[in-house]
Amino acid sequence: MNDDQLLRYSRQIMLPQVDIAGQETLLAARVLIVGAGGLGSPAAMYLAAGGIGQLVIADHDTVELSNLQRQLLHHDSDLGRNKAASAKDTLAAVNPGLAITAIPEKLAGKRLATETAAADVVVDCSDNFATRFAINRACVEHRTPLVSGAAVRFEGQLAVFDKRQDENPCYRCLYEEGHNEDETCTDNGVLSPVVGIIGAMQALEALKLLLSIESNSVGRLQLFNGLTSEWRTLTLSRDPACPVCGTGQAQQAATD
Ligand SMILES: [Zn+2]
Repeated sequence: MNDDQLLRYSRQIMLPQVDIAGQETLLAARVLIVGAGGLGSPAAMYLAAGGIGQLVIADHDTVELSNLQRQLLHHDSDLGRNKAASAKDTLAAVNPGLAITAIPEKLAGKRLATETAAADVVVDCSDNFATRFAINRACVEHRTPLVSGAAVRFEGQLAVFDKRQDENPCYRCLYEEGHNEDETCTDNGVLSPVVGIIGAMQALEALKLLLSIESNSVGRLQLFNGLTSEWRTLTLSRDPACPVCGTGQAQQAATD
């Protein structure tokens, strides 16, 4: 780190859990953020400001006027632009020293696999189940830790799935595929800080994963109620019959 970097990250380096070594880890890290909307905005901005050396942000969508109430990566002058491109400009203005890649397309298939394999952490800021299941499958396959978030109305949820340890659950252990109706902010509304709270929590969990700071969030579902400002925590267990992460155990059972 040069003198500017030491000063820029000094309030983080002060923390014994980070220190110079931890900040260097962050500067060498690569994080994939899927979705540059309400969750992706605070998540990406904190990760950029915090010094994640390589940020990859994917979004195929276009900035619309109704996004600006909560999607802080985008400004009035960005209306009509691709969200990933707009996000890249904002993040580069926050922290010019980073390598930021904008993927202006729906991340799927081979590109999703490649980007997930290359990432140290994936932050899922998407708004639909199909994408969440696809991201989860890629993360399980490549053993990339996944920080999942969702928010609608006054409600938010957060979970960390870390399949570097086989015994941990994956997203598919929690949700049945194909029976979920997407609840989007477009259809249901959302109070703007609710996405901010969940997105900022996603950044916090991503940083802890990168810094190897032990987190209670792995394998737990945390539910935020914005009306009461209360959190509820549910412990998740791995589903041995999970079609995504359950095969190892099935094989194990067969050989026993
Ligand atoms: Zn699973």
